[in-house]
Amino acid sequence: NLSERLESAFKQLKGEGRINEINIATTVKEIRRALVDADVNYKIAKEFTDKVKDKAIGEKVITSVSPGQLMVKIVKDELAELMGGKEHEIDLSGKPTVILIAGLQGSGKTTFSGKLANFLNSKKNKKPLLVAADIYRPAAMEQLRVLAEQIKVPVHIELENRDAVAIAQNAIALAKQNGNNVVIIDTAGRLAIDEAMMTEVANIKAAVNPSEILFVVDSMTGQDAVNTAKAFNDRLDFTGVVLTKLDGDTRGGAALTIKYTVDKPIKFVSMGEKMEALDIFYPERMAQRILGMGDITTLVERAQAQFDEAQAKKLEKKIRANKFDFDDFKEQLQQIKKMGNIKDLLAMIPGVGKAIKDIDISDDAFKGIEAMINSMTPYERANPDVIDTSRRKRIAKGSGKDVNDVNAFMKQFEQMKQMMGMMNKMKGGGMGMPGMM
Ligand code: GDP
Ligand code: MG
Repeated sequence: NLSERLESAFKQLKGEGRINEINIATTVKEIRRALVDADVNYKIAKEFTDKVKDKAIGEKVITSVSPGQLMVKIVKDELAELMGGKEHEIDLSGKPTVILIAGLQGSGKTTFSGKLANFLNSKKNKKPLLVAADIYRPAAMEQLRVLAEQIKVPVHIELENRDAVAIAQNAIALAKQNGNNVVIIDTAGRLAIDEAMMTEVANIKAAVNPSEILFVVDSMTGQDAVNTAKAFNDRLDFTGVVLTKLDGDTRGGAALTIKYTVDKPIKFVSMGEKMEALDIFYPERMAQRILGMGDITTLVERAQAQFDEAQAKKLEKKIRANKFDFDDFKEQLQQIKKMGNIKDLLAMIPGVGKAIKDIDISDDAFKGIEAMINSMTPYERANPDVIDTSRRKRIAKGSGKDVNDVNAFMKQFEQMKQMMGMMNKMKGGGMGMPGMM
């Protein structure tokens, strides 16, 4: 694991008073090895560590910073630089804005198309239209239709049409008619680079003049991802990269070297199959994550994106009146779940990622609680006080749980309510962040 390897490389400097040519040599070598093992090409790794070394040796000695800390800082900055330095916004010019999605089969194009549509749909003044231009597999069109329905975005599908260029053009005409100002075109991929596929995407590009051509690549494919990126870029001259499946067991090489290889920015990272699990790519934050420093910023942003002000106000009122009930509880659970996979969320907290990496935390963690709440009648949910022994027995039965589980859950709920009551008294004013409990 890259984070751990880098950490142990930094440890070599422990006890050193300052950095010099001699004591830094081992650390630099360790960093280079760690990068190569994470699927970073040797030449890039060498160039990287040479730069780190120059910077470290040239650095003025500041007594309050240890050489180890200094190295972490330098490596973090250089990692961020390698991945593009700063974030790159998506180009939404054009009337309508046309975004073409390209990549190999299975890389995550259709999933990403849905996520991007969902992402844009949540913005003011953006009305996306999804287009199924994968004409070879009816299942691919159906997949996009299902996603579109789920996120409540319109989709253009022509089941009988065998001309992907025509479908894209028809969709744009339709978007103009219906006032959709962003058109996202999901294309067909092949399992490997293939001339017919490239020609087709190139033809769509020529016909629709997209403001963005996003190349989607599975980060788990490591160095292959980088080679594929090269081939697509030579042919399509794409505008940005989308790294998918970063939630999986990826070694990081693709994220680290794609920008260097094709000189095109990574614009989005996709982690998981949930439509909400899309993040703008921030090199700095990714570097922090690689170094095991966590990514609190992204976590907070995810929370804010799911945060519904009206709902929060309503909740605050209920808490003030000491009327927080099981319906509210369930709503809160759902909000948290929408933020993404629980384990990914926890991993964004500094230090936690490493601690939980071998623990199996699934999204089912809340299942038992939800089952119990679902087994309550609407009346019980709104009036937790009426839930007596016989009702508890019934709830246990209905949810497949033990009465003890129900009792424990009820007790927790009571304690939570008491805490809320105490907070009310103490503060008397507004709540901090009602969306997060
Ligand atoms: P396409 O062939 O390029 O359109 O790829 P799909 O969007 O159909 O995705 C292929 C498979 O990868 C599907 O099973 C997706 O659910 C899955 N997938 C897509 N993106 C992600 C991701 O970010 N993380 C994970 N774990 N799976 C993903
Ligand atoms: Mg697809």
